[in-house]
Amino acid sequence: MNRDNSSRLFSVARKVMPGGVNSPVRAFNAVGGDPLFIKSASGSRITDVDGNEFIDYVGSWGPLIFGHAHPQIVSAITRQAQLGTSYGASTELEIQLAEKIVRAVPSVEVVRMVNSGTEAVMSALRLARGITGRDKIVKFAGCYHGHSDSLLVRAGSGLASLGIPECPGVVSSLAEKTVNLPFNNIERVRELFAKEGKKIAALIVEPIAGNMGVVPPTPGFLESLREVTREADALLIFDEVITGFRVALGGAQKLFGVNPDITCMGKIIGGGLPVGAYGGSREVMDHISPIGPVYQAGTLSGNPLAMAAGNEMLDLLSRNGIYETLERKSKKLCEGLRQHAEALGVQAQFTRVGSMFSMFFTDQKIVDFETVKSCDTDFFKRYFNGLLEEGIYIAPSQFEAGFVSAVHSDEEINLTLEANRKALAVARG
Ligand SMILES: *Cc1c(COP(=O)(O)O)cnc(C)c1O
Repeated sequence: MNRDNSSRLFSVARKVMPGGVNSPVRAFNAVGGDPLFIKSASGSRITDVDGNEFIDYVGSWGPLIFGHAHPQIVSAITRQAQLGTSYGASTELEIQLAEKIVRAVPSVEVVRMVNSGTEAVMSALRLARGITGRDKIVKFAGCYHGHSDSLLVRAGSGLASLGIPECPGVVSSLAEKTVNLPFNNIERVRELFAKEGKKIAALIVEPIAGNMGVVPPTPGFLESLREVTREADALLIFDEVITGFRVALGGAQKLFGVNPDITCMGKIIGGGLPVGAYGGSREVMDHISPIGPVYQAGTLSGNPLAMAAGNEMLDLLSRNGIYETLERKSKKLCEGLRQHAEALGVQAQFTRVGSMFSMFFTDQKIVDFETVKSCDTDFFKRYFNGLLEEGIYIAPSQFEAGFVSAVHSDEEINLTLEANRKALAVARG
C-alpha cells in the first residue's frame, strides 16, 4: 500500500505543529509508521491522501455513530451556514438540542452547552467544588476525562498509549487534590470515603470505561458508587462523553439505571462538530452563572452549526430500532473476532457494550487499568499494521475503543472479519 503522500505531509506537518498533530492520539507512536492524512470520508469509509480507502472503526473517536458525511447532517450544517455561523447570542437551535438531551437522559433537567468534552468536565468539577465547598476529586486509573489539570493523573487515552503517568505542568497542589483508585474496585472506594468522605467534592467516572479500551463496570459497581457518594454528600459525576447516546439514547445511566448528579457529554451530541455539554438537576445547575455564582462562559458555546448538526444527529438516533441494529452488527463483528482468535490460538479478551468494543491481547480477565496494561502491545502493533494493510482502520493504540456505526453494512463487517483473520495470522507470525 502506497502511503507516500501521507508521509510527505507528515514531514511537513512536523515542521509547523508539535509532533505533526493537533492531538497526540492521532500520531502513530504506539504502532510505528507515519499517521494517515485524510482527504475525505463517506459513510463507514475513510480515504487518505494517497487514495487508499479504509473501513473506519475510529469514527472520529466516537462521535460518528451515523458514519461520515451523513447527508441529513451535512444539509443541516449547510442550511445553517448560509444563515450565519456564530452570533454570540441565543438561538432556537440551542433550546431544541437541550430539550432532546433533557428528554433522553434520565438525570438531566437542565443542560449547559460548551465546546468540548474537556470543557464540560472541567466545568462540572468546578460546579461540584462550588456547591460542596470541598476540593478533593476522586477518579479511576485509566479513565480519561479530557486534559484539564485536575484530571491528568494516571489517565487513559493518549497518556496510556504514550506511557505518561503524570503530566509536567500540572500544578502539584492541584494534582494532590485528585485521588486515583482502581476501576471496578468498590472496596477501595469505601475505604477512601470512610476516611475522607467529607473532603470529597465529587467522584467522577466513565460509567463504561472507554479510554483504556472498553472496560464495562462489574455488576453493582455503579450502584455502589451512587450509594457511597450520596452518604458522603459528595456529587457523583458520570462522564458520558463517549457513552452518551452511544450505548442507549439515555446513555449508560439509562442502561444501568443509575442516576448521577452531573452528566458530562460531548462527541455524539455535536454530530461531528465541536461540542460538549454538562447537565443535572435544576437544583444543581442553578449554581451556575448567571443564576448562581459558579462562573462558566464561552464565545462559541451553543454554536449554531454544532447545534444544527447535533439536532439532526439526535433526530436520526431517535428513530426506531437504531440501537437494536447497532447491537446486532456489533455482536456479529465481535463474535467473528473472537472465533478467529480462538481458531488461531491467539490469547485475547473481548469486551463490548453495544457498539463500543475492544480486543485485548492478554490472557488476563479485563477489569481495570492494571489488567489492561498486561496486554502484548507488540502483538497489537503487528495486528494494527496488518489490518491497515487490508484496508481496515482502527485506533492506533491497544488502549482505545472501537466503534461500529449504523452505516457499517453486513458486507463491510464480513470484509472486516476476513481482514482480521489475515491480520491475526500476520501478527502471530
Ligand atoms: C473524548 C473524551 C473527553 C474529552 O473530550 P474532548 O472533546 O476531546 O475534549 C472527556 N471524557 C471522555 C470520557 C472522553 O472520551
